[in-house]
Amino acid sequence: MDACPHCAAQSISLRAKISADPASPARCPACQGNSYVANKVSTSISVGIVLLGCTWGLVAALTNSPLPLYAIIPSIAWFFFRTWRSAELLPIDADTVEKHRRTRQTVTLLAFLLSFFM
Ligand SMILES: [Zn+2]
Repeated sequence: MDACPHCAAQSISLRAKISADPASPARCPACQGNSYVANKVSTSISVGIVLLGCTWGLVAALTNSPLPLYAIIPSIAWFFFRTWRSAELLPIDADTVEKHRRTRQTVTLLAFLLSFFM
């Protein structure tokens, strides 16, 4: 559990934290406050996963052995959970959440309509 940025209660689960974004934030059961994790966290996790895969692949190529490839999955899992655990939850108010939600709906609708012309 992570601390809510509004009331400091240990009430936000790791699962809620991972799926929280400005349009669908994690909600604290104690104070009903909304919070999310900045988009740069998931971007840095993606970059980290690619770098870990490339590093272990390079080690496997240099040592001419497939054994380093077995370290890819555990190291990626360790990196994934370590990064999400240390990611900071940011508070967000209900009006901003609604604005992000409407923007997401508009973009989704535009993408849907655009798909008819592809
Ligand atoms: Zn709270």
